[in-house]
Amino acid sequence: MTSCPTCAAPLPAEAPDGVCSRCGRGDWFTWDDEDGPVMRPKGDLMFAHTFDGFLASYPFSPGGRLVLDLSDVHYIASEAIGRLMTLRKRLLAAQGRLILRRLHPDLVEIFRVTRIAPFFEIEP
Ligand SMILES: [Zn+2]
Repeated sequence: MTSCPTCAAPLPAEAPDGVCSRCGRGDWFTWDDEDGPVMRPKGDLMFAHTFDGFLASYPFSPGGRLVLDLSDVHYIASEAIGRLMTLRKRLLAAQGRLILRRLHPDLVEIFRVTRIAPFFEIEP
């Protein structure tokens, strides 16, 4: 039995292409290792609960750094922004960092209007 590279949950053999029902890997986001773990949501983040499985199962190891690649996200609902803040808080609590990367211009505008941009490390 293999385990999920994101949350380490055991993956049943019949799980399609590494989809993890616990953290949502392969379902609503892809996971790559570039200069560290890179999480890439597959589309707009409409619901806060989308993040809940991830927040509940991701091992927030000390000093962990997580890149959130938002290139396929054009919209984040306000509830989901709340979960982004939670994700940031959890990483900071473990002396880690959350880096947002490749923001679409629409997202830059949302971040500006909601005044949350200063809370995040944002990279091109
Ligand atoms: Zn997982």
